[in-house]
Amino acid sequence: MSAEIYNTHRWRQLVKLLVRPGALCEIEECAAPSREIIFGLRHRHPLGPSLDHIIELQYGGAPYDPHNLRPAHLGCNVRKSNRLRKEHRAGLLRLVARAGRAKAAAAPSRAKRTASALDH
Ligand SMILES: [Zn+2]
Repeated sequence: MSAEIYNTHRWRQLVKLLVRPGALCEIEECAAPSREIIFGLRHRHPLGPSLDHIIELQYGGAPYDPHNLRPAHLGCNVRKSNRLRKEHRAGLLRLVARAGRAKAAAAPSRAKRTASALDH
């Protein structure tokens, strides 16, 4: 979840409109005892209502398009976002490591160059 849109009136209206009483959490890895989203709990309760972006914002998902939104428990939504953020970061680190190895392979060390020069 990226912070800015969640504090807007527009976002709160969408949650009210798209997460109706009786709505079920649609996150695949829902970890709640029941899929039912609970209303009237304290603010930010993990079983309370939220909207999940089907295509995440960081991958270009539309922030306010109802077709990109589905009801979710707040707790499941936060857990999913944290997991994706972690995976995204791990993916970037792998790319950086791969680029580092490619650079090292393209510029062999002085010792290796000397050794191969002596072979001929
Ligand atoms: Zn859930």
